[in-house]
Amino acid sequence: MGSQKLLLVTLFLLAFASSAQGYDFFYFVQQWPGSYCNTNNQRCCYPIYGKPPSGFGIHGLWPNYNRPPYGAYPQNCYSNSIPIMSNRQVSGLVPNLQTNWPSWTCPRSDSSNFWQHEWTKHGTCSEAVLSQYDYFRVSLQFKQSTNILQCLITAGILPNGRYYTLASVTAAIEKCIRHTIYVKCNIDKWGHDQLYEVYTCINKSGTMLIDCPVLPTPTCLSFWIRFPSF
Ligand code: 5GP
Ligand code: 5GP
Repeated sequence: MGSQKLLLVTLFLLAFASSAQGYDFFYFVQQWPGSYCNTNNQRCCYPIYGKPPSGFGIHGLWPNYNRPPYGAYPQNCYSNSIPIMSNRQVSGLVPNLQTNWPSWTCPRSDSSNFWQHEWTKHGTCSEAVLSQYDYFRVSLQFKQSTNILQCLITAGILPNGRYYTLASVTAAIEKCIRHTIYVKCNIDKWGHDQLYEVYTCINKSGTMLIDCPVLPTPTCLSFWIRFPSF
């Protein structure tokens, strides 16, 4: 009886350990710099290599669970990978990363701290599937294949400081990329909800967009959300 119990406990622990390590899909998160930069107490600086072209920029590619407890996700997983800027393959992506994955924090930087942070916090948890180089290469590919700003402009939703309904913003992007998405809001200086980030979802192997299996808690609480200029 005692050894049976021990076996059960061992099996349970093994099942828990394997589920804790895995992930089910990715959020691919893009940010609108206008909303990152105009929120309360948020100073914001151009990168040292100059102002990138106006548009959404990558925030990160985040492995995620589609199982309880919802809202939890793996982070800072064990890795013996080298610093990203010492990886010659990743260095080859730098011009593309500078344009599409800029960091807006102050003091001005070359953005590589942001890329390193995203790799360490999120990328290390999908390393069995996407190597360090693939993590950045695949992110850049999805950035190119989901032109969120163009999707919105096509639907008449422009970054001009005006208000649009959350439903129209969501519908415009979903129609354009043909998959469900999530819009995250933050609060502007006047206390209004504004379009901050767009989460698209990618399958576990990092090969294609999918409908989001689970969405984060709603953050756009007003009917109208602002799309600030940048
Ligand atoms: P915030 O609280 O600003 O939404 O998120 C802070 C940070 O937590 C994000 O930049 C990201 O690193 C992480 N994070 C927030 N929500 C999620 C999520 O649903 N999945 C994953 N994997 N990370 C998240
Ligand atoms: P998270 O852990 O929230 O994914 O990553 C956000 C971290 O990256 C924060 O420590 C933040 O200071 C840093 N960071 C650097 N540049 C940026 C940027 O342009 N946007 C955001 N959201 N975070 C940035």
